[in-house]
Amino acid sequence: MKNLSQEIKHGNTHESIEKNNKKLNAMLQCKCPVCKEGDMFKTSALNMSQFNELNKNCEKCGFGFMPEPGFYQISMFFTYMVGVAIFMVFGFLAYLVFNDPPLWVYYVSIFIPTLITTPWNLRYSKVIMLYYFGDIGEN
Ligand SMILES: [Zn+2]
Repeated sequence: MKNLSQEIKHGNTHESIEKNNKKLNAMLQCKCPVCKEGDMFKTSALNMSQFNELNKNCEKCGFGFMPEPGFYQISMFFTYMVGVAIFMVFGFLAYLVFNDPPLWVYYVSIFIPTLITTPWNLRYSKVIMLYYFGDIGEN
């Protein structure tokens, strides 16, 4: 990574790579899309009862995380897509690892990873939704 950024040190390219890195980092940590410092969610993903609850506003810059009522309903689409991807990956892994096992093995090896990744799946769907479809003034 260091070599790559040294090679493209001139002009906008370097700046935009840096900007994208910062954005990606902020997305991975579920930070505010505007200041990239305030937390979007009230608790960690491991808090089973509140993992999906958003703060109303950014604690650092005051940006509202709820652009309009029902804004995050569309994020269910991303949740679905990621769910299907997990389904396929673990289904294929079960096929490879257990050498074409009986059907119940597929059920278990798909259901458990899907269940475990659900909090992150739901949270990152909202993050993607806000970063790419929220009115955050850049992109
Ligand atoms: Zn902020």
